[in-house]
Amino acid sequence: MRRFEDTYRHKGLRKKLVEHLRQKGITDETVLEAINNLPRHYFLDSAFDEVAYEDRAFPIQVGQTISQPYTVAYQTQLLEVKPFEKVLEIGTGSAYQACVLAEMGAQVYTIERQKALFDQNKQFAFLKKFHNIKFFYGDGFEGLPTFGPFDKVIITAAAPFIPEKLIQQMKTGGKMVIPVGEGNVQRMLRLTKQADGSYTEEIFDNFSFVPMLEGKEGH
Ligand code: SAH
Repeated sequence: MRRFEDTYRHKGLRKKLVEHLRQKGITDETVLEAINNLPRHYFLDSAFDEVAYEDRAFPIQVGQTISQPYTVAYQTQLLEVKPFEKVLEIGTGSAYQACVLAEMGAQVYTIERQKALFDQNKQFAFLKKFHNIKFFYGDGFEGLPTFGPFDKVIITAAAPFIPEKLIQQMKTGGKMVIPVGEGNVQRMLRLTKQADGSYTEEIFDNFSFVPMLEGKEGH
C-alpha cells in the first residue's frame, strides 16, 4: 500500500536529501530542484515512509529497485537535459527517474520489460499530472524506432554492452548515459553521437545496477 500525503516532515527530509546530494558533488540546480519537487515516498510502499529520503536504493516489485537518489542525480546531471528535449529511458521501474526528467521539462519516453511494473504505473494516479511522459511495455534493447530520433538516452539498468539499435535512434550530437558491465559493478559512460554515426566515449564513476535483460517478462 502507498500513502499519498506530502507532509512538512517529508518536505524537510527532502531538503536534507538535496543538501546531501549537493555535498556529494551534484551541482546542477535544475536536477536538485526536480528532486526537491518530487515526493519520493509516493513511489514506495508506505513501509518505507520513514526511510524514503535516505540516500539508498529500495526494493520495488518483482525483484527490481528504485535507484539511489545519488545515482539518479548523477545520471541526470550527466545527461544535461534541456526543456523539450526528447529523452528515451530504458528501465521505468518505479517511474521516479522518469518524473525527475519530466520535472526538468523533457519529453520522456520510458520502456519497462516487466509487465507488473508497467501495469502498476498505469494505476499510479500521481503520474497522470505528467503529460510529458509516455510509458511503454517492451524490450529496451529494441528502443522505440518509430518515436526517435532522441536527443538523449538514459539506461537505468546494467547494460552488458552498448545497444547498437539505441545509438541508431539518437540524433547527431545526442548523448547516452549508460552503466556498462556484467558483474556487480558497472562503469558509467557518456556517449556522444557523431555526424558519421559513430560515438565518442567519456568514462565516469562505478555504480551497481540490476541487470538489463533481453526480451519481456509477464503478459
Ligand atoms: N529508473 C528506475 C530504476 C529501476 S531498476 C527508477 O527510477 O526506479 C531498472 C529497471 O530496468 C527494472 O525495472 C528492470 O525491470 C528494467 N529493465 C531491465 N532490462 C530492461 C530492458 N531490456 N528493457 C526495459 N526495461 C528493462
